[in-house]
Amino acid sequence: MSRFRVGSGYDSHRLAEGRRLVLCGLTIPHDRGLQGHSDADCPVHAVIDALLGALALGDIGKFFPDTDSAYKDADSMELLKIVLNNPAFSSWAISNLDITIIADKPKLAPYIESMREKLSGAMKLDLSCISIKAKTSEKLVPDAVQCHAAVLLEYIP
Ligand code: MG
Repeated sequence: MSRFRVGSGYDSHRLAEGRRLVLCGLTIPHDRGLQGHSDADCPVHAVIDALLGALALGDIGKFFPDTDSAYKDADSMELLKIVLNNPAFSSWAISNLDITIIADKPKLAPYIESMREKLSGAMKLDLSCISIKAKTSEKLVPDAVQCHAAVLLEYIP
């Protein structure tokens, strides 16, 4: 078995009125938020899928079905902690995590460091191992937030 496993995740949610915009556990001031069954924390959903993908465990929908009322308005950072506490991860350390958030609005640059700190705390992972990049869709996808995440796991016997 390889000492390293790589995982990638993707998620997207539509912007809608009357919702909070929550990204990496941080509530960001905006006139719209992301629509979804849970808090619709798009980057955290991508991270969860990257982690599950790295160990070929399935995807977020398998662990937290959006048909299950238990996850209605769920705090996705708590779902992330549940995934990391899965025994399958006990012999693996996260080497690094790289996230790209694609959103035309709002501008996310002022919030990047706070988002990194939120993830660092939730994942017990050094800040230097967490990258978050933000870019726009160049108006191609103006009414949504999309996220990609890549993670590298190292086997720790
Ligand atoms: Mg999602």
